[in-house]
Amino acid sequence: MPIRTLPPEVASQIAAGEVVERPASVVKELIENALDAGARRITVTLEAAGRRLIEVGDDGCGIPAEELPLAVARHSTSKLATAEDLFRIATLGFRGEALASIGSVSRLTITSRPPGAESGARLRVDGGKVGAVERVGAPVGTVVRVEDLFYNVPARLKFLKKDVTEKRRIDALVARYALAYPRVRFLLSHGKTVTLQTAGDGDRRAIMAALYGVETARQTLEVLAEEGGMRLSGLVSPPSITRSNRREITFFVNGRWVQDIPLTAALLQAYHTLLMVGRYPLAVLFLEVEPQEVDVNVHPAKAEVRFRNPDRVFGFVQRAIRRALLAYAPVPQMPTLWGTRRSEAPGTGLGWRLAAETRAEEAAGTPSAPTTEAGRGTQELQPSLTRLPLLRLIGQVGATYLVAEGPDGLYLIDQHAAHERVLFEKLIALRAAREGDAPSQTLLSPVVVNLPPDQAALLEEHLPVLRSLGFQVEAFGPNTYQVRAVPPLFAGSDPADALRAVVEDFEEDETPLQEEVEARLAARVCKRLAVRAGQVLSPEEQRALLSDLEACESPRTCPHGRPTMIHLSVEMLERQFGRRGAR
Ligand code: ADP
Ligand code: MG
Repeated sequence: MPIRTLPPEVASQIAAGEVVERPASVVKELIENALDAGARRITVTLEAAGRRLIEVGDDGCGIPAEELPLAVARHSTSKLATAEDLFRIATLGFRGEALASIGSVSRLTITSRPPGAESGARLRVDGGKVGAVERVGAPVGTVVRVEDLFYNVPARLKFLKKDVTEKRRIDALVARYALAYPRVRFLLSHGKTVTLQTAGDGDRRAIMAALYGVETARQTLEVLAEEGGMRLSGLVSPPSITRSNRREITFFVNGRWVQDIPLTAALLQAYHTLLMVGRYPLAVLFLEVEPQEVDVNVHPAKAEVRFRNPDRVFGFVQRAIRRALLAYAPVPQMPTLWGTRRSEAPGTGLGWRLAAETRAEEAAGTPSAPTTEAGRGTQELQPSLTRLPLLRLIGQVGATYLVAEGPDGLYLIDQHAAHERVLFEKLIALRAAREGDAPSQTLLSPVVVNLPPDQAALLEEHLPVLRSLGFQVEAFGPNTYQVRAVPPLFAGSDPADALRAVVEDFEEDETPLQEEVEARLAARVCKRLAVRAGQVLSPEEQRALLSDLEACESPRTCPHGRPTMIHLSVEMLERQFGRRGAR
């Protein structure tokens, strides 16, 4: 084929693909436009998770009738005039392509009226074809209606997830903007159902409460720090409130929601040693830096940013959060023997550790001094989840628990949780011992697995992770894969099952780090392979489990963070039996 210039409709659909990927991306662009227009009230209405309709209304500055055609033209913006402006952007938009992109892949109607205008005006764009401006009666502000998104791009439609998933993304997105702009009133509804409504009174914690419940909101910790022209504010969860994925970690940079892996890494570093493997905090953080310190023009959807001095920014973020965590030191309480939740909840040990750590760091004179050099705040401290002493097996109770004695008292061990931990550490050790890909165990006969198209796409994307784990997977037809080998430790489990579990995991998190995927996958598979509660174990099996557990780095919790054991110390027993003066 000879080279030719693409017809404008084709070129604009290609460009639209970068900005408008799914209903949530349309909602994002329209909300950002409303915010740029100085709206105090933003109403988002959806039908069929945004496929049928996305409508965003605001009470902002409006668009003059004569400018409406420009608003939907590509590279037309009121927010930028010169190339230098690009380096001091104070608005959320600047590329002048959202409305043009949305209009090329939907039926778009804009109705707008600036405060001074006598009437409103309306413009329609249908699959890129721009109509004529009409005069209409309208309130001050702007309403953008997007109907039948992707009706002319069937390939895009196919990539959309189930309605519940698209809806969840939209809900999460609007929730984040509501948190970021607590002075703006947000109203979000799906059909007639209102899913989020905020007061616009500036109270961020109240919005947290609406999203996560009053109790969680009450316990979140305030972050507030300033240093060399940077400012970080927001809320983070204490180590006792966690999630199994990073979906609830949100960063705004200069008012713009970004998905930034290094910023998330800085946050996780601040929680270092405070969280179990595979557990993540909740966080909504707002970072402000001088506009010229950050390049927001690196991604068409503006979801990524580049800092001029990344190390300085990440060090600041990590220390600020670490300080907030350490400032929170719950009063240590001696757990009583039977039953108070404190002695069983995995969070408790953390509270203790946190308090101990605060003292250690205070003694070292570190974290409260703003001059602390980067990295100092995460110094390695002795984790309280220490190894076990040598234990003497007494036996099995209820085919579920092992009972053992150690120099420091009695141990009740949950056999399933304990075995999960043992398998998990063996798996991790296997990984650490090798360079490159993990050893695999070839299956006697390869197993064919069929996946839905969206999951197949995820699998393709993550083939290298699978390989590094020891899976050998090959394409075997459309959406069909052949598993030829699995990591040796998983040899006993159903390979198709294991593969599906991995892919589900990819779906959980949009931008997983490889180690995280591996750790989570490992935890999941170990759960499946571990001995069950109710399984009678021979004395040899009991002893083997116990000695494997003794060899573990973190024997006291399963990989999901639940306790593997209850320890009744000699001291506690004596106190409970009145052998020692009660406190
Ligand atoms: P950008 O936001 O990058 O400028 P858009 O395509 O999103 O590009 O919008 C184009 C222009 O239309 C904006 O620069 C702004 O002038 C105008 N506009 C869009 N939405 C609104 C709105 N809700 N209120 C007022 N003006 C708007
Ligand atoms: Mg815009």
